Amino acid sequence: MPRTLSVLSFALCIVSAGFFSLPAWADTQVINLYSARHYPTDEALYSDFTKVTGIKINRVDSDDAGIIARLKAEGTASPADVILLVDAARLWRGEVNGMFLPVKSKTLEGAIPAQLRAKPTDEGSAWFGLSTRARVVVYDKLKIKREDVDTYEKLGDPKNKGQLCLRSGSHPYNLSLFGAMVEHLGAEKTESWLKGMVENMVRSPKGGDTDQIKAVASGECGIAVTNTYYLARLMRSTNPADKAVAERVGVVFPNQQSWGTHVNVAGGAVARYAKNQANALKFLEYLVSPDAQNHFANGNNEWPVVKGLKLDNPALLAMTGGSFKSELVPISAVGMNQIKVQQMLDRVGFK
Ligand code: FE
Repeated sequence: MPRTLSVLSFALCIVSAGFFSLPAWADTQVINLYSARHYPTDEALYSDFTKVTGIKINRVDSDDAGIIARLKAEGTASPADVILLVDAARLWRGEVNGMFLPVKSKTLEGAIPAQLRAKPTDEGSAWFGLSTRARVVVYDKLKIKREDVDTYEKLGDPKNKGQLCLRSGSHPYNLSLFGAMVEHLGAEKTESWLKGMVENMVRSPKGGDTDQIKAVASGECGIAVTNTYYLARLMRSTNPADKAVAERVGVVFPNQQSWGTHVNVAGGAVARYAKNQANALKFLEYLVSPDAQNHFANGNNEWPVVKGLKLDNPALLAMTGGSFKSELVPISAVGMNQIKVQQMLDRVGFK
């Protein structure tokens, strides 16, 4: 939001004014960050970067769609240096719309597996995955049998009628899951699956992932879908009510016997018209450092993209025993299927 930026800039001026002994170049050590990461624990991530590098961060917070719309409106005048988005299809959209500046970095290429980066061109990669999250099924352990919800396909099965709660089908997390399903099942079967889920719904889609988990715990819904970090947050909460919610629900990583659980990626890019390109790249490289990756995994309950990091997160370990099978679907395919999926949602009346 413009207000956030101006407030931060103002605060930055005051801070700079206070440190009058800093050399003149210190004023230029900033990056303008457009971030769709909506996690309070990330504050430590940003302040640690500033502590380590001396580079200040002016942050603009919005959701993925808001950031993409803003970059489009600002065009070449955009002050953005770095962009963080939390969904594969949106990263893909930013790339095809030319909003990112492809960059080469041995650090990023060495740290991030190829399938979690934009396909490199001669200029480099347009974006880099920094963490992943699994989209899993939660169910009421008192009412639902685990084997009735151990695949995504079963969520549309008539035996689960009157049990299912979902957030909006048009939310990026669901659009990406459904887009991946098109790759696994084909368009026709995906559409009947979506129709089956609409028929199984307890209520019209509403709320976020945490609301779905709570609705299962309260008994309103038997089955829901959530990103893993929302459940992990409840499991690790110091609030007894949150813990009780987490204890009531079972969790399934779907499709372990077939193609694997749907995994989404949160990632970053240097903005196409970045004025502080070198600092922007420094920030992305910082995000694959052991400290930052540890923050994603143990602070925000995501999976790190860097191999070899010790997972020290009791909630993630409890959910999976440490590892699970994840699907391998090209992110470009998930991105390209979005429009098709939205049309299916409209046809089957999935709000
Ligand atoms: Fe989220």
